[in-house]
Amino acid sequence: MAISHFRKLQVGYNAKCKMQNVKYHLRCLECGKTIQDRYTNTCPEGHNSLLRTVYKTKRIRKLSGEGMFNYIDWLPVEETLPINASPVTYKSEGFGKELGLKNLYISFSGYWPEKGVFMKTCTFKELEAPPTFLRAKESGSSGKILVVPSAGNTSRAFAEVASMTGMPVVVIVPKSCIHRMWTTTENHDSIFLISVDGDYSDAIAISKEIVKIEGLIEEGGARNVARRDGMGVVELEAAFFMKVLPDYYFQAVGSGTGAIAAWETFIRLIEDGRFGWKMPKIVISQNLPFAPMFSAWQEGRAEIIADKDMRNAEEAIKEMYADVLSTRNPPYSIKGGVYDMLGHSKGKIYGVTNEECRIAEKLFESEEGIDLVTAASVAVASLIKAVDEGFVKKEDRILLNITGGGYKRLREDYKMYEIEERMEIKSLDQLALDEIEREVMEFVKGL
Ligand SMILES: *Cc1c(COP(=O)(O)O)cnc(C)c1O
Ligand SMILES: [Zn+2]
Repeated sequence: MAISHFRKLQVGYNAKCKMQNVKYHLRCLECGKTIQDRYTNTCPEGHNSLLRTVYKTKRIRKLSGEGMFNYIDWLPVEETLPINASPVTYKSEGFGKELGLKNLYISFSGYWPEKGVFMKTCTFKELEAPPTFLRAKESGSSGKILVVPSAGNTSRAFAEVASMTGMPVVVIVPKSCIHRMWTTTENHDSIFLISVDGDYSDAIAISKEIVKIEGLIEEGGARNVARRDGMGVVELEAAFFMKVLPDYYFQAVGSGTGAIAAWETFIRLIEDGRFGWKMPKIVISQNLPFAPMFSAWQEGRAEIIADKDMRNAEEAIKEMYADVLSTRNPPYSIKGGVYDMLGHSKGKIYGVTNEECRIAEKLFESEEGIDLVTAASVAVASLIKAVDEGFVKKEDRILLNITGGGYKRLREDYKMYEIEERMEIKSLDQLALDEIEREVMEFVKGL
């Protein structure tokens, strides 16, 4: 039933293209090998490197439809979904003036109809879910169910798309993040929500076990090119609006996947040739006291050392203002990851305190007139620091990625339907695994 509902929604299907699969291929950044995409997230030769998409089209088109699929040239999918999610870029007046910046551009991912942006899960994670579902379906994992662990924002984005399309998903979130699990759609038949007694890392660990069950497939996180290229739509939208690449790009990070995506998209845009040739400096920020990449980068290290960079992790994570940024295993050292990105773009990392976040958030909200999610205020605070330090100058073209906002605005227009958990896991043993398998089978039968 749910599946046929999805079929009805499909548009733009092109069987010929799909068969030849010539639109893009993957490249391993370690060995340089060209790889045909079969939902491949690691090099078949076993290299610990990110794979990157190489698109046949070097000059990106912006199509005239609605939403992120206007940029399908640089998304690793053939079909589209009728989803109007897309970020918006605009030139800041109030906040830019307050900071003395003449060329501050804001990319906003969230819900803000007055600005023409309708992302109903309110963060840029909503750009990752649609191409990931399609990529799984098209690249040979059709019929398998994606398993997505997260601190809440990613799982909610996947749940919303699952609910809209009827494509099933298993989402795993820490108990403390369960309040983030809602959608604006009422039907949750295609969502299997599991809560975990632990933090984000425990959700990831459990996901690693669950994907061994027949019929389930690991979504892939930072290694999944559909997620990265989906987020790259932020930079594409900005480039078409600004007509030229920014000098600086600011974003709050947990894993850094969004910033890697920005870097990869800037590389493609430079190759395109119409947006300038200068790589923007990528400035990322983490929320103290839990800021492992900031800590390692301060010491010039390409490796994160748990004893140094993640002391008292559990306590530190509990103290964070923006706990969605609490990733313990970010793709920092991996080839093509955050460390490489910072070096190549001559970037920088800021550590931002909770107090700095709150001050930044108030100022932004009063000047720009929209509410922020906590993670976005980390980026705003880092920009204030960069201005104070003189790292950016008043004439510089700056792109500030507001990765989430508009919850309060959304509540005025929509009802939020809480997703009920189907299982709660306290500890992962064989018994729990068997039970999960049974329950998931039941879920699949009911679809
Ligand atoms: C996930 C998230 C981030 C951080 O993104 P990463 O790519 O994981 O570093 C920033 N802001 C918001 C709102 C998020 O949901
Ligand atoms: Zn390789």
